[in-house]
Amino acid sequence: MVRIGAHVSSSKALDLVFDRGKEIGAETIQFFLNSPRSWKTKIRTDKEIENFLNKKNSHNIYPVVVHASYLYNLASDDIDLRKKSIKGVIEDLILCDELDIDYYVIHPGKAKGLKDEKAIENIKKSLEEIFSKTNVKTIFLLETLAGQKGEIGKTTKELKELLSVIPEEKSGVCVDTCHIFSAGYKINTEEGFNNYKQEVETLIGLKKVKLIHCNDTKTPYNSKKDRHQHIGEGYIGIKGFEFFLNDSFFGKLPYIIETPKIGNYDQINMERLRKAIKYTLVRP
Ligand SMILES: [Zn+2]
Repeated sequence: MVRIGAHVSSSKALDLVFDRGKEIGAETIQFFLNSPRSWKTKIRTDKEIENFLNKKNSHNIYPVVVHASYLYNLASDDIDLRKKSIKGVIEDLILCDELDIDYYVIHPGKAKGLKDEKAIENIKKSLEEIFSKTNVKTIFLLETLAGQKGEIGKTTKELKELLSVIPEEKSGVCVDTCHIFSAGYKINTEEGFNNYKQEVETLIGLKKVKLIHCNDTKTPYNSKKDRHQHIGEGYIGIKGFEFFLNDSFFGKLPYIIETPKIGNYDQINMERLRKAIKYTLVRP
């Protein structure tokens, strides 16, 4: 049944993500392996991996999700950047496998001046290279994006095309509520929500969606901007989240908030989501 959690810091040591999750009452967590805005990577010792696995087994927090670096751009025409991105993803996936991570979420890529078709071709080539060199248990999730600065993954159709080059059993989609609303899916009306669900079902199949990034938005519908807001305080509003949480399919997925980190707002946002569940579904 639905599990609600948050993105947490992995600073100091990776295993602390479980303590940080537990402290705020998260049932599922997401974190970065390294600083998401730096190319520097930390060497992880066997001890650190062992500590992580021990806590993963004892904390009843799942699924455990890793979010890829924001610097990666699998769409880039800059060969160096694309190679660095591919190398980064491969290294991440190998570490994810050692850490027994359930899902690895990545932003598909940014066109940055390229035609969308060319950017999509570049991402497909990058993904083919990644999956020719790795074979890990962690499921690879492409995230829905808002379409800001030429982002690819702003439509279900684009995601379908990218998914076509990833082995079926290794791939999935992470739906970000803020991003899809900004991209032009009006998920805060019954009609808009149903249309979105229908589109996902028709193009990629609902079962491909494994995770929800649950964020309200600071910018209006169809703004093509990516500005997360606290649950119920943005342009989506609590109604939109009710549609997801009480849906026969989406209401069974894990929900991770990536809302602004202010005071105890993570607990407040998670509580708002729990309250939005109508209890027609059996809670664990
Ligand atoms: Zn993301």
